[in-house]
Amino acid sequence: MVLQIGVLALQGDFREHINTLNSFQDVEAREVRTEGDLQGLDGLVIPGGESTAISKLATMFGIDTAIRNSIRAGMPVLGTCAGMIMLADDILDPKSGQTSFGGLDISVRRNAFGRQVDSFECDIQEHGFSSERLHATFIRAPWVEKVGDKVQVLATIPTDSDQKRAVAVQQGNVIATSFHPEISGEMQVHSYFLNVIRQARST
Ligand code: GLN
Repeated sequence: MVLQIGVLALQGDFREHINTLNSFQDVEAREVRTEGDLQGLDGLVIPGGESTAISKLATMFGIDTAIRNSIRAGMPVLGTCAGMIMLADDILDPKSGQTSFGGLDISVRRNAFGRQVDSFECDIQEHGFSSERLHATFIRAPWVEKVGDKVQVLATIPTDSDQKRAVAVQQGNVIATSFHPEISGEMQVHSYFLNVIRQARST
């Protein structure tokens, strides 16, 4: 059965997500901009980019409430980087007026690893997506500072102060990563997300 996956295409690197998703044989990925575009989707991806812009545009395009309600109703969602911020119930340092869709009982800190010059890539050896090592690209990335009881941490990395920070989390059908799997040919996060969708469909 073909899975119909939408990618929120208001701002950010939605094309990279569409290309990654379309490289799976049983997936048809398409751009989502309006409430009507959400019809018939098996899952939604919120891309990386700039969460303040995505938040503003989602309100302008009148799709914010529909996304919020769909997530609450159980639609599987994957958010990467800015997408993680959009899925957090709590943004620790929002720009004035910035809102999120919510769905994940986490507190995120925007730009937590530093500014654009502090972008970096690394391989994560142990994580919950698979048994292979995971290539992660961090660009002005957020980290997760607090997780609720129902949230599972899928990956952590050590920070400068040697404290470990959560960079991938899951709460039921909602998954988020601080990093961008979509720009480096890393398929494991998307593959895991598609399995969550298949499982949700079969129950
Ligand atoms: N710093 C950005 C924000 O706050 C996220 C960066 C990204 O998605 N690469 O939205």
